Amino acid sequence: MIDVLKKYKLNKDTWLEQLAIKIFNDIFELTKDKKGVSRETYGEGETQAINYFIRLARDFGFHVEVDPAANVFFSLKPIKNSRYILTGSHMDSVPMGGNFDGLAGVAAGFLILIYIKKNNINLSVPLKVLALRGEESAWYGRNYIGSKCIFGLIGNDDLNSSHRTNGKKLLTAMKECGVDLDKIRASKCLIDKDNIDVFIELHIEQGPILVDRGWPAAIVTGIRGNNRHHNIICRGSAGHSGTIPRYLRKDAVFAAAELITRMDDHWNTIQQHGGDLVLTSGIFQTDSSHHAMSRIPGEVYFSFESRSQDSATLDALEALLKSECKTIERERGVKFEFDNVIKSYPAELDDGIIKKLLDASTSLNLPSASLPSGAGHDAAIFANSGVKTGMIFVRNDKGSHNPDETMETQDFITALSILKKFIIDYEKTKSV
Ligand SMILES: [Zn+2]
Repeated sequence: MIDVLKKYKLNKDTWLEQLAIKIFNDIFELTKDKKGVSRETYGEGETQAINYFIRLARDFGFHVEVDPAANVFFSLKPIKNSRYILTGSHMDSVPMGGNFDGLAGVAAGFLILIYIKKNNINLSVPLKVLALRGEESAWYGRNYIGSKCIFGLIGNDDLNSSHRTNGKKLLTAMKECGVDLDKIRASKCLIDKDNIDVFIELHIEQGPILVDRGWPAAIVTGIRGNNRHHNIICRGSAGHSGTIPRYLRKDAVFAAAELITRMDDHWNTIQQHGGDLVLTSGIFQTDSSHHAMSRIPGEVYFSFESRSQDSATLDALEALLKSECKTIERERGVKFEFDNVIKSYPAELDDGIIKKLLDASTSLNLPSASLPSGAGHDAAIFANSGVKTGMIFVRNDKGSHNPDETMETQDFITALSILKKFIIDYEKTKSV
């Protein structure tokens, strides 16, 4: 162990910070793109980042396990037929994204393993660290692929989804990364689920709240689910912009814009009544091969995403979306065509785990800070599969899913310290 610290030229007092910076810098160099990093889901950057940890694990003498979905587990020794604490996050990023989204959680778990080994700490419940693949939907339009595989939740629709630009099928990319597709298609749990005592994901916040409140880290109370339509088409009739009077128009853009405005009004009402909801139409386009300033648009394509901590709110919103479309169809003579909605269910995190994480924070003289997660995370898949789950957020600036995403090393070490304390004190504070 001492030799390894020497090999990396680490100072005995500040090695944790130094090694954290080294890991983030090394993986940035391995996966950098024109801007930020690109660690493609079941692609080259993701594999490079995972292989980096596998090499580091060999240096530290850790046990490495690759599951049939090519997710990788690290532990001090093999853990068989006994319960364990699991921590980790995802290794992929969005195209030209930030370096810390996902990577922070894997790096934190890995550094805690090193800390435990270096200090000869005898954990009453051993620790496994998980490097997941395929969390980001940006590449194949499907999210949480690695964690869904673990719980047997990936179907043929997912496997046959196509790459955002080159049309490659997800199953081809997975096969190239060594995935055993027969085992994935069998839809069986790939993990000894009952032996996972708890899953904790440390992740950057990806929102502005921690920066706004001056908190370096916080405990997450729940994760929003979402309903996503990638491509809704509104069809009207194209025509000359100067000759067709208002009452004879079937303008697809005006109709879709009215739909979005009506949904915005519903959002406002639901929020005023205390409901949790955010709505986004991130893609909204006419066909550039024939659209023109003087042509009434005959069709428009748009996405529609709703997120909430409450399943009933998401269901109600979906019903409202469809009924508003019917009204607008009647009033404007257009037709809305829907794709299948892709659902991610909201996740409730475990109250006992939240309390223990908050206790760990306050015992480190940190604020007792908690907030819900607006973004989706792998932790939701674990929680909704019946694993006791918790999450820790690290403050990050300049948003996320962009190359400017920023995380201070000191904030990362603060969040890591909460997780480390939780793991080391785990059995002492275990609730019944
Ligand atoms: Zn993430």
